[in-house]
Amino acid sequence: MSPASSALIDDLVCANHILYVEGVVDGFGHVSVRHDQRDDRFLLACGVAPATVTADDIVEIDYDGNVQDEAGRRSYIERFIHSEIYKSRPDVMAIVHSHSPAIIPFSVTRATLRPVCHMSGFLGFSTPVFEIRGTAGDDNDMLVKSAKLGKALAETLGKHHFALMRGHGSVTVADSIKLAVARSIWAEMNAKLQTEAMRLAQMAGDNSVNYLTPGEAKGSMTINETVVDRPWDFWKAKARVALLGLKR
Ligand code: MN
Repeated sequence: MSPASSALIDDLVCANHILYVEGVVDGFGHVSVRHDQRDDRFLLACGVAPATVTADDIVEIDYDGNVQDEAGRRSYIERFIHSEIYKSRPDVMAIVHSHSPAIIPFSVTRATLRPVCHMSGFLGFSTPVFEIRGTAGDDNDMLVKSAKLGKALAETLGKHHFALMRGHGSVTVADSIKLAVARSIWAEMNAKLQTEAMRLAQMAGDNSVNYLTPGEAKGSMTINETVVDRPWDFWKAKARVALLGLKR
């Protein structure tokens, strides 16, 4: 038995807190990271609200979505989002699933989410949208609650860093937990800015929004993402103050 390092667990706890304070998750939503001491498991909180997660709430889960916890704790019903994406994407080290509100309109309209500012180049120019009806049929509960649905979502995500989930939320992936958290914050920010830009463009009379070019998206992403420690340290300090004394 090789437990995950305490530094990794601390980062995962902080990630939960940051995502709440930055408005990406609320009572729901979750973040995972691959285990750093064994290659057959990842880490996720048991089924609690992200803002209240502590190190004692972190459980280990195998890539079939089975919770491996001697204390018998359970985890989120949608843990298959994580297990199936990890299976299909060896490059992905951390995953955020959220219902952050500004991105949802882009999952239910023909408006395409694309980079309007220099922090969101990772979105690319063809943000995939997962349609759960394609696997679960018209009558479903919208939840990615099985390996089959998780696999379908992973197929929709493909090689992208971000995917919308129609009428539900999104999934963000990265090669580190800090970057997965940052991208999920920047995706929500981009959605807000893009909605405002599209509204203003309509008022201006020509519906024209000047998006980043693919070269600008790639260029700014390359720079921003190498200094992710800076916003991470700030978000971490901010979350510590914001959640001081919070207990469940
Ligand atoms: Mn969900």
